[in-house]
Amino acid sequence: MADDPATIEALLFDLDGVLYVGSQKIPGAVETLEFCQEQNLPFRFITNTSTRTLSAIAEKLNAMGIPIAPEMIFSAVSATRDFLFQQGSPSVHLLVRDEVKLEFAEFEQNSPDPDFVVVGDIGAAWDYEMLNGVFNELMNGAQLVAMHRNKYWLTDEGLQMDIGAFVAGLEYVCGKQATIIGKPSSQFFSLALNALGTDSDSTAIVGDDIENDIAGGNRNGLQSIMVKTGKYRQDVFDAANTNPDYLIDSIADLPALLRGVLYPTLRFAPGRLQFSVTGADTVFSHFRENCVGLIPRIGNLLFVRRSLSKKLP
Ligand SMILES: [Mg+2]
Repeated sequence: MADDPATIEALLFDLDGVLYVGSQKIPGAVETLEFCQEQNLPFRFITNTSTRTLSAIAEKLNAMGIPIAPEMIFSAVSATRDFLFQQGSPSVHLLVRDEVKLEFAEFEQNSPDPDFVVVGDIGAAWDYEMLNGVFNELMNGAQLVAMHRNKYWLTDEGLQMDIGAFVAGLEYVCGKQATIIGKPSSQFFSLALNALGTDSDSTAIVGDDIENDIAGGNRNGLQSIMVKTGKYRQDVFDAANTNPDYLIDSIADLPALLRGVLYPTLRFAPGRLQFSVTGADTVFSHFRENCVGLIPRIGNLLFVRRSLSKKLP
């Protein structure tokens, strides 16, 4: 039924870059969450953040004025813990910050010959000696687990390199593929969908990462809504081999999208068709600049099919 018109009955929100950047909440984030509550649209949060525990993520959000309970959040840290429990009681070498290590207290962490090397975010602590130690553990039979393999994200200081480069480097030298726990893994999306109790095709992911949020969501059968905040870059978006179902300026535009008051527009880029939405006030200038087709709203915009946004042959 994936190609049938579908409404959005539930939402998964990425956090970093969607609700906040650095230490600043994105304008309209709280109002949009309130709108979803008023509309009885269930939602959860799904994040690859590996620097904090769930309660610490919730604390950070609350400090920014975004009231979210820890049980609403699915993080790569909690999912990694679940994954390791499913493996029995393995020994682990954790490349995570000290506060996150506390989440893994049940596992043997000091084995010289660990069953799993678990890669999370350790900031600037990477060095040759550490990497070479991990390399030898992997060559001696340890399995490589990555909380995610994000490339970069946006901070108060600008773009910052994420752990994906280290995961890729370790894969390269040891000839093993890492098990990726966070987005875009199917198991991670399933965890959140199970909590929502909704089907993938009636649920939308809202994210700023074209690979992990949008391509990951599409691949797992969700509808996808990309925001132009956080790590969004026009050139990266144009070069990507995937399209969101909807492209909006920020989370502040989500209520309008869900109410169907934004207009879908089509534009051709080399080799592909892009589908985005714009407000009525800007639709005509947008059309003049880069649209070859315009679909006026007829009924609910959400009934527009994903096939509109598929890549051209
Ligand atoms: Mg993000």
